[in-house]
Amino acid sequence: MDLIEANFVVLDERFKACGGDGSMRRLHTGCRWTEGPVYFPAGRFLVFSDIPNDRLLRWDETTDAVGVFREPSGYANGHTRDRAGRLVSCEHGNRRVTRTEHDGTITVLADRYHGHRLNSPNDVVERSDGSIWFTDPSYGIDSDYEGYRAESEIGGCHVYRVDPADGEVRIVADDFERPNGLAFSVDETRLYIADTRQNPSHIRVFDVSDDGTLSGGEIFGTSDAGGFDGVRVDTEGRVWAAAHDGLHCFAPDGTRIGKLLVPEICSNLTFGGRRRNELFITASTSVYTLRVNFNGAR
Ligand code: MG
Repeated sequence: MDLIEANFVVLDERFKACGGDGSMRRLHTGCRWTEGPVYFPAGRFLVFSDIPNDRLLRWDETTDAVGVFREPSGYANGHTRDRAGRLVSCEHGNRRVTRTEHDGTITVLADRYHGHRLNSPNDVVERSDGSIWFTDPSYGIDSDYEGYRAESEIGGCHVYRVDPADGEVRIVADDFERPNGLAFSVDETRLYIADTRQNPSHIRVFDVSDDGTLSGGEIFGTSDAGGFDGVRVDTEGRVWAAAHDGLHCFAPDGTRIGKLLVPEICSNLTFGGRRRNELFITASTSVYTLRVNFNGAR
């Protein structure tokens, strides 16, 4: 068992409330670039992407075994679990967002905007009204490393919303360089979106209206350690973002209050377990986990 000290770095008094296991466990390694951790409480397993190897892996909590979940995976990147417990996936290679139904068939939720193919959807989240929100930077078409090199048909890297009623794909934000991780606040009135390619990389916060439009968009927090990637929110409204030195934690007012250091470059995180207090972190070649004393938002 591969144990590493869990180093919670306090930058603000408020972070002293955050802790957990004294060590975190590397539950899998040997991948090229891990991403998209998503936990299924009903099956007690974690699915995650190994993007350049074009496969999804599955860690079984009951046996600790890791095996292939889907290969090829369409160079899938970020995922979420929707309200019905289904896997929703961003596929770089197929340039689309899909849902895996309970019978295993795959439904395409979005692959075009006004007839133009998407770039390479990166990360996705569902709002409780059933709308699907995703980011579409160009990482999957920039080269053949984690997708297929191609020109952008859209000519920009935007954030989109799929309407739950008619499936219409709409742009909700078009002023990002490389939109990446995204997460709603606990009450879903705000949406946090990381822009990886800013100097420094930052997270912006938007107000979400009932009809699914966004307003605001000011900078919420910036990185002092490489580009921000995946973003999650806990039940206390703290925002957790994957960065190069670990996870950065922001108070709801945007103050960076602490970090959880990780020995590889972090790409994403999710809260698993029945009480959403098992933290799973995808980082470069590995996946790390520890139990914490805070809980992921639903
Ligand atoms: Mg990402």
